[in-house]
Amino acid sequence: VAEIGEFFSETGFYQSLRLSDEKPLLRQQSAYQLIEVYETPYYGKVLVLDGVLQLTERDADAYNEMMAHVPMMQHEHGPKRVLVIGGGDGYVVNEVLKHESVVHVDHVDLDGDVVQVCKQQFAWGKVWDDARVHLHVADGAAFCADAADAVYDVIIQDSSDPWGVDESGNQIDLPSGALYSKEHFAHLHRILKPNGILNFQAETIAIPADIKGMMDWRKIVLNAGFASARYGSIVISSYPTGQLGFLMCEKKIATHNVEKSIAAKMRRMRQAGLQTSYYHPALQSASFVLPLWVHRTVYGDDEEDENEEEEVEPSANEILGSDSNAEISSQ
Ligand code: SAM
Repeated sequence: VAEIGEFFSETGFYQSLRLSDEKPLLRQQSAYQLIEVYETPYYGKVLVLDGVLQLTERDADAYNEMMAHVPMMQHEHGPKRVLVIGGGDGYVVNEVLKHESVVHVDHVDLDGDVVQVCKQQFAWGKVWDDARVHLHVADGAAFCADAADAVYDVIIQDSSDPWGVDESGNQIDLPSGALYSKEHFAHLHRILKPNGILNFQAETIAIPADIKGMMDWRKIVLNAGFASARYGSIVISSYPTGQLGFLMCEKKIATHNVEKSIAAKMRRMRQAGLQTSYYHPALQSASFVLPLWVHRTVYGDDEEDENEEEEVEPSANEILGSDSNAEISSQ
């Protein structure tokens, strides 16, 4: 049977997807990677880079809507200038453009051939025709190093995996690795406006090496000066283990009424006849609620205890002061 699959030696997990035909609809070797598009019976067309599945027509909404709308909605005002790094398939850009506040999108992908293929193969391939979109075929890390200070409201980094693992379990560096270095995160912080937000792909909690990688990136991001870095979770059956996450990093913790601002943005989007199919406002906070062991692993026990204290309604004694104080005041 024709299939495309990925094996994870650390967990012994193998995920595969059945293809309609062994023969791809398209196969093209670019300067950076082997680009393939296959037809599948249930998931529609799928984009594969160097043998690794990038998206399927059936469930690409899950990953791309969350990657785009969570930071765009979290932003205090309507984001005007947005940078999308990677995401050569165009789906994240498509979602960003649903926000009427957007006036300028810089889209930087290393591989112009991925963009050309996706233009022809996918329904959202017209995104690059939008006058607000400026495509740069370049390395995302080099582009950010050259960018001016404080220009972007939101940056979304939708990269392929930063590393691969060969059959003997050795790590292989991939072009996306440059997008996860200390220097690059420092530049992302520098080129964001003071209330800017970064969102980037941060792997799955179901593979120990991935969760460790995510925690390392979280540390780097916080050291770079971001005020917060929260892991949000996405359910997506075509990615290995069915779960993938992102790290949303705020330069300044939001002090505005996030719910009210999201309701207004959502209303404007619907009035313009634009819809989402996976993202809805309740996920803005719900996607950050993690299983207990993940929460403890990522944030440590202390933070969890602090959160618990915050959530508990204060007792009458706490409002009035301690028991003894209450006694004193009643005397
Ligand atoms: N959402 C997908 C996933 O998680 O599997 C990723 C989709 S997108 C097709 C990944 C894109 O990252 C590719 O188009 C690739 O060319 C691009 N890319 C890889 N390394 C890059 C780099 N250093 N700078 C910019 N883009 C890069």
